[in-house]
Amino acid sequence: MPNALLIYPEFPPSYWGAHFALEFVGKRSSMPPLGLLTVAALFPDHYDLRVIDMNVDSLSEIDLDWADYAFTSTMIVQKDSLTEVIQRCRQKEVKIIAGGPHPTSFYSEIEGVDHFILDEVEDFFLDFLLDLENGQAQQIYRATSKPDVTKTPLPRYDLIDLEAYGSMALQFSRGCPFDCEFCDITKLFGRVPRTKTSTQMIDELSLLYRLGWRGPVFLVDDNFIGNKRDAMRMLPPVAEWQKARGFPFRLYTEASVNLAELEPLLEAMVEAGFNMTFLGIETPNPEALLKTKKKQNTKSGTDNYLLSAVEKIQSKGMEVTAGFILGLDGDTKDAFDNQIQFVQEAGIPTAMIGLLTALKGTDLYHRLQSEGRLREESTGNNVSITLNFETEMDRQTLVDGYKRVLSTLYDPTLKNYFNRCLKLFERYPDRGRTLNGYRWGKIRKVEFKAVLRSLRRQLFSKQGPAYLRFILKVLQDYPSLFPEAIRLAIMGYHFEKTTSQQIAIDDFKNSLETEMGGFRYWLERLAHSGSDRLQTVGSQIRQLLTQTQREYQQIHIDFRHGVEDAFSTFHQHIFGQYLEEEFENFKQMLTKQVHQSSDGLAEVRTYLDRLAIRIQKQQKHLQVDFRRGIDELIRTLEVSIQDTLNKASVPLTVNGRLSLN
Ligand code: SF4
Repeated sequence: MPNALLIYPEFPPSYWGAHFALEFVGKRSSMPPLGLLTVAALFPDHYDLRVIDMNVDSLSEIDLDWADYAFTSTMIVQKDSLTEVIQRCRQKEVKIIAGGPHPTSFYSEIEGVDHFILDEVEDFFLDFLLDLENGQAQQIYRATSKPDVTKTPLPRYDLIDLEAYGSMALQFSRGCPFDCEFCDITKLFGRVPRTKTSTQMIDELSLLYRLGWRGPVFLVDDNFIGNKRDAMRMLPPVAEWQKARGFPFRLYTEASVNLAELEPLLEAMVEAGFNMTFLGIETPNPEALLKTKKKQNTKSGTDNYLLSAVEKIQSKGMEVTAGFILGLDGDTKDAFDNQIQFVQEAGIPTAMIGLLTALKGTDLYHRLQSEGRLREESTGNNVSITLNFETEMDRQTLVDGYKRVLSTLYDPTLKNYFNRCLKLFERYPDRGRTLNGYRWGKIRKVEFKAVLRSLRRQLFSKQGPAYLRFILKVLQDYPSLFPEAIRLAIMGYHFEKTTSQQIAIDDFKNSLETEMGGFRYWLERLAHSGSDRLQTVGSQIRQLLTQTQREYQQIHIDFRHGVEDAFSTFHQHIFGQYLEEEFENFKQMLTKQVHQSSDGLAEVRTYLDRLAIRIQKQQKHLQVDFRRGIDELIRTLEVSIQDTLNKASVPLTVNGRLSLN
């Protein structure tokens, strides 16, 4: 019986991951790996399966020893973790099979994978397994058509610990009828949405219910209303199912803005227990929307179409969360204030603001490539302040404006954030009403603990005054929404923390560049020479390292990966400069010894011994994690010194003498 280990690599922290909010509810990850759980359901019975979600548990040696095959599914943002998984599987000689959106776009750049299963795998998975068992599997398997999702089996939720997650996830549809220029969804899943049957949906909900899940369930569809008719058909049975069980699940999803125009559908969603939807608003700037082919978000002849759409959805009792983009062609310097004003007026507490990124395979990617504006591949990380193309707006203006938008919407006091929450509550119908599935009486122990943690952590912090005002206002005007208010307060905490880390990462990278430039300038103007100069340079470097390491430590440990490359490069530059100084000094010394000293060899040997001690001492000031690359620099110095010694016919060997190791 083959053992298949299904591994879900780790995500870096992001807005979506709700990293800081999870602490409040004692959960380890926001969402289960739905794709892998669906693949798990495709395996025949003679396989033994184990799922390791690395966002919840670490991948142990025992798991790898157990596995005959390792299957992974990844998005671009998980690629670093995937690389680590591949290395570990190879060390253990476990065959590795990779699928998901990231390999589908980048398989030719991923090394070490035995087999790629690309696109949607339902239609060819069993054939692949057969080939695998017979030792005849090809390297790449691709779907030739889009699978019929009505035949997709129930995800194997039983293979994970549901309690580790903040929310459950299921899928109703794949694909979206729109074709926004920056979006890869239509390229991956097509423009004709495929939907599951109502029976499938009820079966999936029932399975989660039987397994004991209660609470939020995310319908991960890219556009829940991509097929309006099917969504409308599915909702009443779900509403009935929910009602019969007292609304055990709080449903939420993603939809296009035209949901606001579909009153019956909107009402059916509320009836079924949907209390939140994510909208891709992107920008209130119609010109930029048209340029990015998001025509559906503009409506000629309608004033404030987007604002009214948000209000309409909120007035039905559904929170709107939304995605916004800065850096679109057509964005002007007003874009920053316009975004802030829009988000505040719309009462969208959790607005995800990102810089535009050109994902491989999208129309945007191809356009920028043909215009010669593409610079590198996207990191897929919505928390890193990076631009992988030449922007229309001046790059620095864009980055500065972006940081200003973020730090205004999620300022450290959360004043603006709580104002948005109150605006949302004002719009809810019947202010004293109880949202479906979120009644006071249904608060579970875990939620009660979250309330206490929120009060303790937020009340006695910079957020305290705004938080207190918000809570008092809610208790006075919307008491039944108190649990919802706490949930939002916790999300605000997460967004503020994530934003401040995002900005800290960018500030730190900028500060490294400035320090580096300043150091070079200082070095050029340093008048001393000889050992005096060396001492001054050495001490300046130590000071720089201590100061930057202090700044580095201020970044939250989970976000430090965002500056590791830059900090490592900084270490190399600084240390490289120092070694150059040493080399110059060495050459001067050698010339002096060769020409002047009677016992030159002994003098040179002593000098080299002291040089080794100096370098090793200096090396100790480098943070351990950033010593990579430094050994290489020292080896280069050794080679240069050896060459110089050889040319001067000095019979000494330096190899391996200078390094710490
Ligand atoms: S509406 Fe959303 S999912 Fe559909 S193409 Fe546009 S961005 Fe992509």
